[in-house]
Amino acid sequence: LLGEDGQLGVTIFEEMTSLAVRHGAINLGQGFPDEDGPAEMAEAARSAILSGANQYAPGQGIPRLREAVAAHQARFYGIDLDPWKQAIVTTGATEGIAAAVLALAGPGDDVLTFEPFYDSYGAMIALAGARHVTVPLHAPAFQPDLAELEAAFTPSTRVVVVNNPHNPTGAVFGREVLARVVELAAQHDAVIVTDEVYEHLVFGEPHVPVATLPGAAERTLTISSAGKTFSFTGWKVGWVTGPEELVARVRTIKQFLTYSSGTPFQEAVAMGLGFPDEFFRGIAASLRAKRDILAEGLRAAGLEVFVPEGTYFITTDTRALGIENALDLARRLPELVGVAAIPVSVFCQPEGAERTRSLLRFAFCKKEPLLAEAASRLALLA
Ligand code: PMP
Ligand code: GLN
Repeated sequence: LLGEDGQLGVTIFEEMTSLAVRHGAINLGQGFPDEDGPAEMAEAARSAILSGANQYAPGQGIPRLREAVAAHQARFYGIDLDPWKQAIVTTGATEGIAAAVLALAGPGDDVLTFEPFYDSYGAMIALAGARHVTVPLHAPAFQPDLAELEAAFTPSTRVVVVNNPHNPTGAVFGREVLARVVELAAQHDAVIVTDEVYEHLVFGEPHVPVATLPGAAERTLTISSAGKTFSFTGWKVGWVTGPEELVARVRTIKQFLTYSSGTPFQEAVAMGLGFPDEFFRGIAASLRAKRDILAEGLRAAGLEVFVPEGTYFITTDTRALGIENALDLARRLPELVGVAAIPVSVFCQPEGAERTRSLLRFAFCKKEPLLAEAASRLALLA
């Protein structure tokens, strides 16, 4: 949690976004779209505000959104949830992650994640006072080695955090990997917390929620959010679903983190979750085209590109340009060529940071001409 100077630091997203702003750079660092989501949803939020949906929502979320979350899980994945007992609305996936980790782990417990890992996992495991054990993902496909996965489990493993599709690498884990996670979690009586915020941002096979694997549902908390699916990252509406007893534990913690989440945005997100299937397919198709433009541009700029199967991030290796330290490069890049990116090492513990030292992540949730412009600026590096 501490920065290089030993003080509480700002996140890498804050650091790189403020560098991008200072130098007028194209911000392919922090992942947020440069176009808002559906106008009907914005209109629904506006009407909700004007019609008086402005006081505290129920702590567990407005009924309409809980029902919409359950209906969405049933429609896409065949998951059957009781919206009253098995779903809770959170202030973004971030609060879902915080509440789940704080509810399930404490001093003396191990929490397992893959590495690199989304930054809030490390922070929350530290706040919970638990030990953070990591399992490396290996380039080029950023999959775990199943023997390393097994070896990471200990009698103290209480929670396994999965993030699929995976930020920052863009990897999508196959059924074999997920099934092994479920098997090992069952053997150790650990809970699986799965962060699936990029569930609709996949470019190959349809998304497979961990909770749909045999033996998983009874020990899995699934987290998602409206930020990525609907391109409203600023609304901060997320949800956690799973067995009643586990959701109740999340609810206990959530009461004291935020108590409840933004009422009018919940109305609008409930509407969005009911959009027809074509809407959800359309998001992936449009992102896929953006991915291909940026991937091509990054390759032309001389970087090694690991083409992602999901998310809106591309990981690259800067060694192809003779650059070993991507953190250093990321700090200079906005001024040097007018593009911001995120070094992958910040999503790692020290050993993992060494292994991923030359990796740099670029976000492609931007308009196509901007991606082309970013690519041509980066060509100056070659
Ligand atoms: N998990 C992952 C893997 C993410 O990439 C993000 C945000 N980009 C979040 C959680 C946070 O989601 P939210 O903004 O809904 O809190
Ligand atoms: N999740 C976004 C990313 O990975 C940023 C979220 C944040 O700024 N904390 O870029």
